[in-house]
Amino acid sequence: MLQILTARLKTVAPVWTGGVDRESSQARETGLAGSLRWWYEALVRGLGGYACDPTAVDDRCFFNEAAFQATGEVEDGLRDVCPACRLFGCTGWSSKFNFRLADAQGRMPVELGREGVTFQMRFVEVKPLAEEERWLLSRVLHLIDRYGSLGGRTTLKPPEQPDYGVVEVRENIPAPELSREEVARRLAGLLANSADMQRRQAAQPSQIPRLDLFFFNDDHWLDLRAINDLMQVDSSGFLAGKIGVSKKIFSFRVGNRFWGYAADRTMLTKVMDRLAALGVRGTKKGEVVINEL
Ligand SMILES: [Zn+2]
Repeated sequence: MLQILTARLKTVAPVWTGGVDRESSQARETGLAGSLRWWYEALVRGLGGYACDPTAVDDRCFFNEAAFQATGEVEDGLRDVCPACRLFGCTGWSSKFNFRLADAQGRMPVELGREGVTFQMRFVEVKPLAEEERWLLSRVLHLIDRYGSLGGRTTLKPPEQPDYGVVEVRENIPAPELSREEVARRLAGLLANSADMQRRQAAQPSQIPRLDLFFFNDDHWLDLRAINDLMQVDSSGFLAGKIGVSKKIFSFRVGNRFWGYAADRTMLTKVMDRLAALGVRGTKKGEVVINEL
């Protein structure tokens, strides 16, 4: 039986939905669904699972139509499709839900470009979500609410610009009672079943966002000087980003928070040490946050 999963939220800072046509509600929905997917992928990787990189030419999933036709089993077509693509879709396989934004009363469209707007995210099932998919999606919303931010362009926001993308999740989607270990076990099961996904996971660059290499602070924000200081720990330029490549540290005065991610454990340790030296307390490594989920 197909359901509509509804989350109720409120903008704390305007949400930049970043569509080319910003008047179009569909562009807004596409932008926010992309942001949810980005967090979903990072969480799957942080739990030891595999999520492809939809921006990489040689690391994408597609539904194996021939394998499906041969047996009539959807799972055969999906064997080499990563958990993120199973939920959000890939070539030959549509998303399991239609994503809709509505205002607090359920009316469309809703404009999220200012603070204090209450709104709904609706995941209208087209195919039934697996238990672990509902669990992961609810945890993504929790992460965004407690530590992160929402919206496609958040990650390209210059530090001196106003804050974007801080939201409060007032009511999360209903999720099954699963343990984090059980979800990790199911993700491992999908990976164990596909030599192709194992190969692609092994070939992924270490810089791909994975939640265990994130750092979060939900009690401090960083000014531009502190961010620039923090970027000094990394001579590779990964944290600082470059033209067309996002920086990796995001601070929100309005939300009184910052988050970011490192390319490897050594860089993460350097970031944590520098934050401590700057007198910033309470920064959590991603693995600590994962263990809270
Ligand atoms: Zn994929």
